[in-house]
Amino acid sequence: MSPPKSWLWNPDLPGVELHTHLEGSVTCDRLLALSEKYGQTALAAECLNDKGTEYVFDGFFGFLDLFRKVTLLLKTPADFHQVALDLGRTLHDDGVGYAEISLSYGVMLKRNLDPLAIQQALYEASCQVLETHGVKMRWLPDAVRQWGLDKAWFALEAALRTGPELGVVGFGLGGDEVAGSVSLFAPLFAEVRAEGLGISIHAGENPASGQAAADSVRQAVDECGADRIGHGLGAVSDPMVMAMLNARQVFMELCPGSNLMTGALTQYSDHPLQQFLAADIPCGLNPDDRSLFGVNRKQELIRARKELHLTEEQETKMIQWAQRASFDPEMRAAAE
Ligand SMILES: [Zn+2]
Repeated sequence: MSPPKSWLWNPDLPGVELHTHLEGSVTCDRLLALSEKYGQTALAAECLNDKGTEYVFDGFFGFLDLFRKVTLLLKTPADFHQVALDLGRTLHDDGVGYAEISLSYGVMLKRNLDPLAIQQALYEASCQVLETHGVKMRWLPDAVRQWGLDKAWFALEAALRTGPELGVVGFGLGGDEVAGSVSLFAPLFAEVRAEGLGISIHAGENPASGQAAADSVRQAVDECGADRIGHGLGAVSDPMVMAMLNARQVFMELCPGSNLMTGALTQYSDHPLQQFLAADIPCGLNPDDRSLFGVNRKQELIRARKELHLTEEQETKMIQWAQRASFDPEMRAAAE
């Protein structure tokens, strides 16, 4: 497929999403269709409510298990292509003009899927989405923290094979933060940086971990060179970490709706969005796993205005920050 036409920032689609997972965007209908295609309807039934209209899970580890089950039904490049088309349409309907979408190369490799063939399918889907909906999609392969450094190297090698020509603009780390220090991955992220890819790391997701959550954010930035942090809730408990985030202008990919759903927050209104804004730390709102959590950009904005006192001026600033924090040169140029 030919490269996408030159993309221009469209003010009618003002949303910029930098933290959204492809696997977490599989709609309930798509999951049911995939489960029928593969004769695994029992698996879909474990993921959904009785009506098949909502995902169900209990707490963070329940969520990780749900995420794992959903990935079991993504088997071929055509499956990923279809999910990406679904997501492109959803992004458009949700007012999002640009999105960087994470996808777990770590999981693909574990399941003996070929990231190159899948990335080609995703790139073709993103060309179609750009043509049809005017939404630009770029890709962030990631590794799974709890599977360790050796496996992460294989995921990075695959990401370097797919590369910018197939829309890959960065590399990330997700999974279970408690399973191991991000410091272990410092050599890997040095290579990511040397290869010219952006770095986004999930860190400080569970504030109940106390100082460990703050340390996790510090290590991700200080030792792994993270340009962006996914979640980062733990940072606010440590003024030194907040000062570092401000000094380096690290972008925080905030996901309050997700944090509420996984139990990282007990109340939406506990989210420290205003603390990041007051500290002049770049940040934006993101859905994380929009279908699994049943969240979207428009609902998140309404709730943040109401419960986190987000102002129109702050919203505008967050969009500008997100544009500048993108790993895509064309998106960054649009921010100038
Ligand atoms: Zn995430």
